[in-house]
Amino acid sequence: MKISTYKHDVIVVGAGLAGLRTAIELSDKLDVAIMSKVHPLRSHSVAAQGGINASLGEDDSWEAHAFDTVKGSDYLADQDIVEILAKEAPRAVIENERWGTAFSRTEDGRIAQRPFGGAAFPRTCYAADKTGHNLLHTTFEQALRRGLKFYNEWFVTSLVRSDDRICGLTALELATGEVHGFAAKAVVLATGGFGRVYGHSTNALINTGDGCALALRIGAPLKDMEFVQFHPTCLFGSSILITEGARGEGGYLINALGDRFMDKYAPEKMELAPRDIVARAIRTEVLEGKGFEDEYVHLDLRQLGKEKIIERLPGIREICLYFAGIDPIEEPIPIQPAQHYSMGGVHTDKHGATLVSGLFAVGETACMSVHGANRLGGNSLLETLVFGRVVGKAVAEYIESVKSFNPAVVGQEAFDFRERLQTLLLHEGGDSTANIRETMGQTMDVLVGVYRKSDGLEAALKMIRELKTRFKNVSVGRSDEKFNFALIRTLELENMLDLAEVITMGALMRRESRGAHWRLDYPERDDKNFLKHSLFTKVEDYIKTELTDVNLGMFEVKERSY
Ligand SMILES: Cc1cc2nc3c(=O)[nH]c(=O)nc-3n(C[C@H](O)[C@H](O)[C@H](O)COP(=O)(O)OP(=O)(O)OC[C@H]3O[C@@H](n4cnc5c(N)ncnc54)[C@H](O)[C@@H]3O)c2cc1C
Repeated sequence: MKISTYKHDVIVVGAGLAGLRTAIELSDKLDVAIMSKVHPLRSHSVAAQGGINASLGEDDSWEAHAFDTVKGSDYLADQDIVEILAKEAPRAVIENERWGTAFSRTEDGRIAQRPFGGAAFPRTCYAADKTGHNLLHTTFEQALRRGLKFYNEWFVTSLVRSDDRICGLTALELATGEVHGFAAKAVVLATGGFGRVYGHSTNALINTGDGCALALRIGAPLKDMEFVQFHPTCLFGSSILITEGARGEGGYLINALGDRFMDKYAPEKMELAPRDIVARAIRTEVLEGKGFEDEYVHLDLRQLGKEKIIERLPGIREICLYFAGIDPIEEPIPIQPAQHYSMGGVHTDKHGATLVSGLFAVGETACMSVHGANRLGGNSLLETLVFGRVVGKAVAEYIESVKSFNPAVVGQEAFDFRERLQTLLLHEGGDSTANIRETMGQTMDVLVGVYRKSDGLEAALKMIRELKTRFKNVSVGRSDEKFNFALIRTLELENMLDLAEVITMGALMRRESRGAHWRLDYPERDDKNFLKHSLFTKVEDYIKTELTDVNLGMFEVKERSY
């Protein structure tokens, strides 16, 4: 079979908000292609509910937004990068409003803003509880309007480097099963988070961290991978997200004794403490025997009244009706924490550049880092739009500096990958992808979850490494070429196993408790040894770990209470 090589100046991998916004920035200057394993409107950005932060209020300021973000991050965020996020936020929101996003409004016609966890002011702009849906449709329309080239339902299988810089990638076309080479002077990874490494996650099934695994494999380091956010309020059983906006609008958390227990954990902020604190509070109540059926607590919205629930939280009501048979106007919602967001990701500088020339990362895939050890709700949608623009500009500058470019190796790499796939497809008799994936998810849920300790983490690492060995003998179960989703699930699993290993190594190495990372055996924050980012680099067959400095400067590092 002939292997063709396509050519573009820049390939953006991922058509969520981060990828689209980056490509839009580049559209009038360069030949840009966007590649996505699903139709762009099925990217996880579409599922964002609660909103996007910007200091639009009269009493609010970018400094207050920056402070809340840094404190929320348990002081691990890089303060120079948080400054860009907070300063640029109003511009990013207004730009999207002008493009057509139908934000909810106040009575006098301004963009409405609701209170969110860890924020000093109502700062979260929203479109009911379907903010991501609105933002993604608007941004996608803008990308279409600019005539950008889309490769939809193409799965990126590897990155290619030559002469120490990126020169393209290989990708599998789902409709045909063929692997092709793509030569490019720059590649931007905007592949979203890796939530599906966990069994219980609010993330779409496609959030398998492919970009992080691809970057790791060609020598670009990952950063702060042990910081995984668990969202406090996910529907019991299915783990579908119940937005923080539900608490922002006035929802209460109640245990089986009928207590509004957050007064013990965050007396000032109560239900609107940051997510790490609320998730731990819920887990503690359940572990102390004060949960319902030893598993969950209640999120009670009844005091909001029918009108407010229907106007502000219509999607949440639908989710409860369809997936739990509960009407939140009449009954409380059973909830428990589940994996939600990946604070860690591909290590970049403030322009999105990785340590491999020509390789950039943006959005949830990247770790710049603006969220540090714990992300505040509403800051992630914001990161995609603010840094999509920043990274787009940086990529354009980089391309100007590329004088020579050697795309010849791309075709060979595609050929080699295709050979590997043929062998994989025909292999029979080993473990199934589903079995390995289920064990990985359960291991991560139980041993690398909200609460961690060394013996559990060691057991998890041993299990993940065992699963990696079993994966070498995996059987895909289907050998057809067209739309072979069993093959895609297998390639995704390979990526996730690599990430599960790094997350667990990071959690074991970080002998302190900070933000979302809580060690029962080291319950204190340890600024002396661990006010540091962790970096993970693949060197031949092992992962090198090291610690690097955090950019401080604007705000003094203090104890964190709410
Ligand atoms: C249920 C839910 C609700 C949320 N609500 C909010 C909220 O209210 N406010 C907020 O700030 N944040 C929220 N978040 C977080 C926020 O939505 C995400 O962090 C953000 O949208 C990520 O955008 P992204 O562009 O980085 O990635 P995504 O939108 O996840 O897009 C990833 C893209 O990468 C592509 N891709 C991945 N792997 C490959 C591959 N191998 N080959 C080709 N393409 C690939 C996918 O096809 C997709 O197009 C929420 C998250 C969830 C899960």
